[in-house]
Amino acid sequence: MWVWVDADLCSGCGCCVALCPEVFTHRGPEGIDEGVSHVLDGSRVLSPGETTFVPAEHEAAVVRAALECPGEIIMLLREGEPRHPEQRHP
Ligand code: SF4
Repeated sequence: MWVWVDADLCSGCGCCVALCPEVFTHRGPEGIDEGVSHVLDGSRVLSPGETTFVPAEHEAAVVRAALECPGEIIMLLREGEPRHPEQRHP
């Protein structure tokens, strides 16, 4: 499963970070707390629009974060589904 966040629409509620800090962070690519969510690929903070593969051990927490995100801006993509043309990969 792949994940990305539309940080432009993030309210910064922190729900996703609380549920799965291994995948979500409020630190931007420069390492500064931006108050909006970004996705982590290991220790690397992805730039807006980048996607990363979610390790199996974090899938349940990421799905829950996507379901509870008030802005519905955590996007999930299962294997085999077509990708949005603007998506980039790490
Ligand atoms: S749960 Fe959604 S709105 Fe809240 S910080 Fe995460 S991405 Fe942003």
